[in-house]
Amino acid sequence: MFEHKKIFIFGMARSGYEVAKLLSHYHNDILVVDGKEQPEELVKELNSLGVNVVISEQPEELLNEHYDIMVKNPGIIKTHPCVQKAHQLKIPVMNEVEVAYHFLPKGVHIIAITGSNGKTTTTTITYEMLKLAGLPVTLGGNIGTPMSKLVSEIKENDYLVMEISDHQLVDMNEFHPHIAVLTNLSPVHLDFHGNSYEAYKQTKKKLFLPMDEQDIAILNLENEDVVELTKDIKAEKRYFSSQKDAYACIKENAIYVNQERILSLDDIRVKGTHNYENIMCAIMIAKECGVSNEVIKEILESFVGVEHRLEFVRKLHDREFYNDSKSTNNQSTITALQAFHSPVILLLGGLDRGIPFDDLTPYMGSVTHVVCYGETKDKIKEYCDKIGKDCVVLNNLEESVHAAYNLSNEGDTILLSPACASWDQYHTFEERGEEFKKVVEELK
Ligand code: ADP
Repeated sequence: MFEHKKIFIFGMARSGYEVAKLLSHYHNDILVVDGKEQPEELVKELNSLGVNVVISEQPEELLNEHYDIMVKNPGIIKTHPCVQKAHQLKIPVMNEVEVAYHFLPKGVHIIAITGSNGKTTTTTITYEMLKLAGLPVTLGGNIGTPMSKLVSEIKENDYLVMEISDHQLVDMNEFHPHIAVLTNLSPVHLDFHGNSYEAYKQTKKKLFLPMDEQDIAILNLENEDVVELTKDIKAEKRYFSSQKDAYACIKENAIYVNQERILSLDDIRVKGTHNYENIMCAIMIAKECGVSNEVIKEILESFVGVEHRLEFVRKLHDREFYNDSKSTNNQSTITALQAFHSPVILLLGGLDRGIPFDDLTPYMGSVTHVVCYGETKDKIKEYCDKIGKDCVVLNNLEESVHAAYNLSNEGDTILLSPACASWDQYHTFEERGEEFKKVVEELK
């Protein structure tokens, strides 16, 4: 399928670079096109493998009917003129994961995790459980190393645990997981899907379409959209629920899977119903792969959360600081707020996507003050005035941390859960979280 072909790789980044390297070993004629200048040593390396790299702001001018395949970076929107041209020319558009999938050895157990929130957390816990159990397991997808780089290391019958984003799913059609999880669905980054929640949901569904009766779909019974979307898939459906009886559920303060008591909630370090949901998914997968309850327990007793996801930073003069910089939408801030019962001083703000903050209102009960900054600060102030919440408006995160600390009392939680992307003031949410932690660590 990927030999002696003329291949147009649209967008270099790490995945474009890795897929170009992979495909260069199969007598393909490859062109990598990117709008931004790329690191010289990487370009040189690709050139030495016979791959052409062109930097162009009009990539569509380089695309013609002689190409057999376009491999598109997941971050590029499907309405981009170059992608549209590929469709007009009937050139199949796929992404790096789908390409790499075709190079996997036989019998690999593919575990794929998607959903609006909780992907990274669920993927990480699952991987840790399988690894501690001694299974030959590799972590890939949206986390860490691109799959094109991993394929050469994966052996027959290994386990592959992957986080899959909706951006990746747009161009995935044949990728066939044996176990797939849909953690939840809510209308997030719809801008990528023509502002249509329906289009977003149908994109998520693509992960489940190649699956058949022998496969297992792990689904959130509490999320109506998840249940509705997956009602006609062929895979065996196993539900988890934080409220009701289900294949995995919470009863008598413990997690049960398939009627078996696995562990008490008191043995789990991370808190919040959303984390119990992520954990139920991971346990369902681990049990399916034959992992023992001892191993599951050992992981959960030590797992303190993934960095920047409701990460505990520090306790200072009886105030607790949490970094939830990964919260880039209302839904994850709601989730974070639900995890606290103490008074919260909430740091909000960032890139303005034009989304109102009203969804937060039912969950603002424990919030005593809002401190806001960034592009959305005036909207947040307006919102707080409307709901009668104290709100301090500042220019940046550092000032906001100091203000929050000055406003706080003993027993308070100071929470960075911005409900906005970071790109107005930072390159990434990681950079924002690092700065928060640094400022917090320096407080006296
Ligand atoms: P993703 O990889 O899907 O973005 P993460 O595991 O990185 O998800 O978590 C991102 C944010 O979403 C966290 O800050 C957390 O507050 C929230 N979150 C995590 N798990 C869930 C869940 N199961 N349901 C709702 N929100 C969640």
